[in-house]
Amino acid sequence: MPNTTHQVTEVYAKDGSALSLTGATLLHQEQSAFQHIEIYQTASFGKLMVLDGCFMVTDRENFLYHEMMTHPALYTHPDPRTVCIIGGGDCGSLKEVLKHPEVRSAVQIEIDERVTRLAEQYFPELCSANHDPRATLKFIDGLKWVKEAAPGSVDIIIVDSTDPVGPAEGLFNAAFYRDCLRALGDNGILVQQSESPLFHLELQAAMHGHMRSAGFAQTRSLFFPQFIYPSGWWSATLAGKGDLTQFRRTAALLKPFATEYYNADIHQAAFAMPEFFKRRLQKL
Ligand code: SAM
Repeated sequence: MPNTTHQVTEVYAKDGSALSLTGATLLHQEQSAFQHIEIYQTASFGKLMVLDGCFMVTDRENFLYHEMMTHPALYTHPDPRTVCIIGGGDCGSLKEVLKHPEVRSAVQIEIDERVTRLAEQYFPELCSANHDPRATLKFIDGLKWVKEAAPGSVDIIIVDSTDPVGPAEGLFNAAFYRDCLRALGDNGILVQQSESPLFHLELQAAMHGHMRSAGFAQTRSLFFPQFIYPSGWWSATLAGKGDLTQFRRTAALLKPFATEYYNADIHQAAFAMPEFFKRRLQKL
């Protein structure tokens, strides 16, 4: 039966909305030990990866997410040498981290090896840094890795995980944040994908509260457009052992690599807080 195209849809039942990509052809699907994985070719977004029915990444617009999950934290840290990515199985965040020449090592802790192997097959441009000598890929639970990490051994922890359900659920609580605080060195920064400010405000407020109660000196959220995620408006939340309000602006202005979205002005603007968000955090 020839592959017919159709539209692939993610429904966000809780918020009564949905998103479809049209002209989709299913290229691959499988049930891994952790989730159902689908890969589609779409009419105008290139390839699409779906995990347990949730849109994860497309060729066309993943740069927004991968750049904003990495460069703001890397340019906020005074001298980022060692980076840990938890999740990130599509390898896009790893690619962005390793654009920074000062980074000496980046370890990616992805619980599901099948996500990475399929990314290597269907999203090779996201996996272009996988064989960088500074990169290490491990396929274990990020919770376990952080708990066992040597104190002060990491400069930046990036939590590029799925939504807070299933194996990712434990990545959004104070116990995990305490383990991150211990693993991070002076001026260490934790940056975590923190869902949609429009759909998940209470989760974001809880993240800030848990990060602060875990002992982080500062927490800040940044915002950016992300078409394929619920509401199309996404965020990352930083927790710092030092000051998150300053960044290496000159270094960001003179960055020795290309980006599609991130620059020093975007860095500054992304941290501007919407009024409803500011009001909610004031209640913490
Ligand atoms: N950009 C996507 C998003 O914002 O939804 C996430 C990218 S990546 C595909 C998310 C990855 O987190 C998945 O591959 C999943 O297997 C991984 N993951 C979930 N829980 C994990 C855990 N406890 N340890 C390591 N990886 C985990």
